[in-house]
Amino acid sequence: MKVAIIDGYVDEPACLGVPPYMSPYPKYIAGALREQKIPQQDIYYVTIDQLRISPEDAKNKIMNADLVIIIAGMTVPGKYLRASPITPGEIESIFSIVPGTKILGGPIRLGFSKEGGKAANIPEIDVEDVNFAHADIEAFVYDMLQSEANIREPENIVHRFRTVDEIARWSVNGAFIIKQHPDYPHLMCELETYRGCGRKKHCSFCTEALYGASDYRAVADVVSEVSALYDAGARYFRIGRQPDLFTYHATDTDGDIPKPNPQIIESLYRGIRNVAPELRVLHLDNVNPATIAAYPDESRTIMKTIIQYHTSGDVAALGMETADPKVVAANDLKAMPEDVFEAIKLINDVGGTRGANGLPELLPGLNFVHGLQGETKKTFEMNYEFMKRVLDADLLVRRINIRQVMSFPDTPMFGKDVLVKKHKKLFLKYKEMVRKEIDLPMLRKVVPTGTILRDIMCEVSDHITFGRQLGSYPLLVGIPEKLLIGKFIDITVTGHGYRSITGIPYPLKVNQASIKMIQELPGIGKKQALGIVGGMPYKSEQEFLDKNVIGEELLKYIKIS
Ligand code: SF4
Repeated sequence: MKVAIIDGYVDEPACLGVPPYMSPYPKYIAGALREQKIPQQDIYYVTIDQLRISPEDAKNKIMNADLVIIIAGMTVPGKYLRASPITPGEIESIFSIVPGTKILGGPIRLGFSKEGGKAANIPEIDVEDVNFAHADIEAFVYDMLQSEANIREPENIVHRFRTVDEIARWSVNGAFIIKQHPDYPHLMCELETYRGCGRKKHCSFCTEALYGASDYRAVADVVSEVSALYDAGARYFRIGRQPDLFTYHATDTDGDIPKPNPQIIESLYRGIRNVAPELRVLHLDNVNPATIAAYPDESRTIMKTIIQYHTSGDVAALGMETADPKVVAANDLKAMPEDVFEAIKLINDVGGTRGANGLPELLPGLNFVHGLQGETKKTFEMNYEFMKRVLDADLLVRRINIRQVMSFPDTPMFGKDVLVKKHKKLFLKYKEMVRKEIDLPMLRKVVPTGTILRDIMCEVSDHITFGRQLGSYPLLVGIPEKLLIGKFIDITVTGHGYRSITGIPYPLKVNQASIKMIQELPGIGKKQALGIVGGMPYKSEQEFLDKNVIGEELLKYIKIS
């Protein structure tokens, strides 16, 4: 049996699988297939972008497959640099031409919406014989191949969730699949530690509660997975698939938030470093600010552990959602604004030092959601005031994410998102104001002009090249020159946009540099740039200084030969 896995990409509150990220789903499915005796060489993986860009090549794989599996689903709105998630129309087009058995699954089972502010619905796929996995797609695939009868009559399969023991095996057996990803080896492997929110109440909009109680994976299982991925060539990892890393294997208390277990986090990070000694990136995602506020001592210990073992430029994304206490109460949100402020302070205190890749070791990220129940015009003011307070207190935040709620079936928010439309104009105006008055000055503090950032991967190139460091919430860098896609370069930060920066290669080889690049050097205007170009070639730094009216400090950004 030949099997094709089509990765339509996923983006969930606690899981990312849009390039350069690969979600755990393809790996789990590949492992389940291997366990059902499908040979490795008969399991193909293609991304939806490969199907779009080189359809003939990728099409051969799917047309010859006996089983075609599509992974899809966005349960949070996102914008992506060079990838675009699969649409229901594309799913239909693919399934209408493939001859094999068809399976569709992933977070799409929770609903599909094109953008924030729109309600999600289970999409109608107008093709006969599509098997929709209503629970975990990897478990469905495994169960289908369990017997001839299930293959013949998949409608009789009981939809179920996979167990942590199953994914312990499947994640290791399926690690080989990363080699088929077009970004390999520069691929961020999203790692799962657990899913299901450990709170007693759940935020009105969140789909994580639909996964049930927290099902923690054993540390040894996650470490074995990393070891298998590392052996397959993976060097970039993010511990991102969990609602709150700090409560991995936390102790249940009578309160809303379980108590963190710093020793477990230490053994997780130490274990990963032991089996992947030359990893290039180890980042995290998702921390509940209420956990930090409720357990500051444990959280401080955890942060120190993270900084000991991770790579710099790490981001603890905090789901703040709102600074309006009434909205917090009306939606059972996790943290009051004061809790979040304390969490931001603590992360800055422990993680604010600049690390080897040029970014601070560990900074908070902030997520806001608009359109929640109880939102008023005053909510927008309160949110803005909160961000201004953070900025004025000289606290750093790596990025602020502002979105409108996507309401999903089976969440308390479903059908109650009337405020999204009502406040749309206000939302857009306020977002623009935050970009200008908060994001821009914040970015100037996080990466001041002259900062050297290491290992930017060039991803999109025309007359400007856009690149990012591989990592959690990477900063977008525009370089005013066409560079080779896939190349890694160091850059000097030369300018700031609201959400991105401009940079030039570091060190800049002056004798070969274009006037556009020279003009970008810190403190150099157009007239001086013309003078520098006119004086080329330079044989030494001294000659460069003698011929131009510039300060010696410029020498740290350039190279003469
Ligand atoms: S705390 Fe709220 S947003 Fe976070 S996982 Fe739980 S329910 Fe979802």
